[in-house]
Amino acid sequence: MSDGEGARFITEQKLDTSHKAILYLEDLNVSFDGFKAINNLSLYIDKGELRCIIGPNGAGKTTMMDIITGKTKPDSGQAWFGQTIDLLKMTEPEIANAGIGRKFQKPTVFESHTVAENLELAMHGNKSVWYSLKAKLTGTQQFLIDDTLRTIGLTEHYYRPAGALSHGQKQWLEIGMLLVQEPHLMLVDEPVAGMTHQEMDRTAELLVSLAGERSVVVVEHDMEFVRSIADKVTVLHQGSVLAEGSMDEVQNDPRVIEVYLGE
Ligand code: ADP
Ligand code: MG
Repeated sequence: MSDGEGARFITEQKLDTSHKAILYLEDLNVSFDGFKAINNLSLYIDKGELRCIIGPNGAGKTTMMDIITGKTKPDSGQAWFGQTIDLLKMTEPEIANAGIGRKFQKPTVFESHTVAENLELAMHGNKSVWYSLKAKLTGTQQFLIDDTLRTIGLTEHYYRPAGALSHGQKQWLEIGMLLVQEPHLMLVDEPVAGMTHQEMDRTAELLVSLAGERSVVVVEHDMEFVRSIADKVTVLHQGSVLAEGSMDEVQNDPRVIEVYLGE
């Protein structure tokens, strides 16, 4: 565990994306009780990119996200955020502070608080609920909340308890809760599971609009959805990259077809 001073030293290191990439994963390996969940995995994400990660169950997608966010430390390999920030030397909160946000599959909004309060709480990070809701917002903070509500399409729901939202709206709110933390890289795990077609279309637009200003990595099973947003797709299999390219390229790759037929 690093002390407060150490944490500040690390998180104040500036993100340097002068070489185009924002995330470098190199030769990563993770074993669970002798089982290789991640096997010489190398993967690079560019600044502003929207990348989709697909792969059969057990391919290592979640474990990869766990490494990036500091939840799991690999047995070997490298993980860098830009040129200078060594993710493997940092704790989960330090990594979040440095600008990597993660949205888990299940929405975890505060149901009894309003939509706007949920964004406020997320903006204040790990401070107490009492502090977060008493502290008066600065103009900049209020602007960020209003702007985020517009982006996620929930402006009319400002005063509504989050518990009253539909499943899709809760997912968007949770994406908003990441956005107010102004991440440089967003990791999104299965964003459209359980959504209606209409909600899926809206989510596709949202994710596409979020890339550019920040990098977005989406793990998703729904192929139709991936096709609707994909620029570059990475296929994971047995803890390594099996194929990478456009959706058409990977879907016509014989190795990818074989892996998916075998599911
Ligand atoms: P995916 O998200 O692509 O479905 P995961 O990253 O969840 O795959 O899992 C990769 C493999 O590692 C699976 O075989 C899974 O059972 C195994 N695994 C993941 N986490 C653990 C853990 N904490 N302990 C033991 N095995 C694990
Ligand atoms: Mg998974």
